Amino acid sequence: MDRKHSYTNRNKWYGKNNSHKNSNQNKNEESQVKSHFSSHICEYCNQPIEELSSAIAAKENGNPAHFDCVLAKINASEKLAENEKITYIGQGRFAVVYFENPHDLRHFTIRRVIEWENRETTYEWRSEIANVYSQVK
Ligand SMILES: [Zn+2]
Repeated sequence: MDRKHSYTNRNKWYGKNNSHKNSNQNKNEESQVKSHFSSHICEYCNQPIEELSSAIAAKENGNPAHFDCVLAKINASEKLAENEKITYIGQGRFAVVYFENPHDLRHFTIRRVIEWENRETTYEWRSEIANVYSQVK
């Protein structure tokens, strides 16, 4: 560790016997940097969103939410009949699908489509991902 930082005085205070404490301090520093990059909080469960690329916009205000949280919300509001299931069909849309045979998941009928995300809206947090990817390239 040849990083210069402002802990010099504190290190003196701890003394040489507590060197492992200093390495813990460095770990905390790193996790703070990490959390700075994943600063998006799920609209529904208030937990940080690690995979922003799989996040879905909250219907209320367009903020990012966990895919699973959105799915749970739709499941709670839709009345599903037997052999019906909510599934994501892309472009911010979910669908209620019906399986004639629940053991054969390849054959299903779309009963109704749920337009969840507003397709006219450009979500800022989503273009953030696009920017990150274009920088990597
Ligand atoms: Zn969530």
